[in-house]
Amino acid sequence: MLTIGVLGLQGAFREHKQSIEACGHEAKIIKRKEELEEIDGLILPGGESTTMRRLIDRYDFFDALRTFGQSGKPIFGTCAGLILLATEIEGNSSAHLQLMDMKVERNAFGRQKESFESKLKVQGVANDFEAVFIRAPYIAEVNEDTEVLATYDGKIVAAQQGQFLAAAFHPELTDDNRLVEYFIELVKQYKLKLAVN
Ligand code: GLN
Repeated sequence: MLTIGVLGLQGAFREHKQSIEACGHEAKIIKRKEELEEIDGLILPGGESTTMRRLIDRYDFFDALRTFGQSGKPIFGTCAGLILLATEIEGNSSAHLQLMDMKVERNAFGRQKESFESKLKVQGVANDFEAVFIRAPYIAEVNEDTEVLATYDGKIVAAQQGQFLAAAFHPELTDDNRLVEYFIELVKQYKLKLAVN
């Protein structure tokens, strides 16, 4: 059994805990940076990225989160979590954790589509994934070693670069746990890789 952490500073962290448990693994809500040492992979939940960043700074998480990702441990960013992972945010001079090479656009689906659901083809995961978008960002640019996993309306909404996974939608808000399972599989692979190195 793996232990998957969910950053518990703000946003939809409790829902993620339930989906991890529904996949048969242990979930730990991370409130202190020392707790990162107890987990194999981390989910950065949806919520509000600027508020989350403020709390990351207030609780001295910033360097610990970057070190966690750079050490080869998987991180899955959903919605606001995706924004935290990006190296570039459209219209902002600075980004946050800068662990995943991509440029993101916040609140990118416009007012009339602030919140919507759609069935998506997610590469390697499902052809009919029920995706819930809430004031969602999209990925405007990726570099060549980032794999695009899903698009909606021609916009990139899920991608993976090595141990980093990002989705613009909220996989924790439905009973469809296939994307969380995909992340857990990634955590398993990287755990083996880190063990043999
Ligand atoms: N719009 C939010 C932000 O910029 C993200 C929305 C979400 O996580 N549901 O942080």
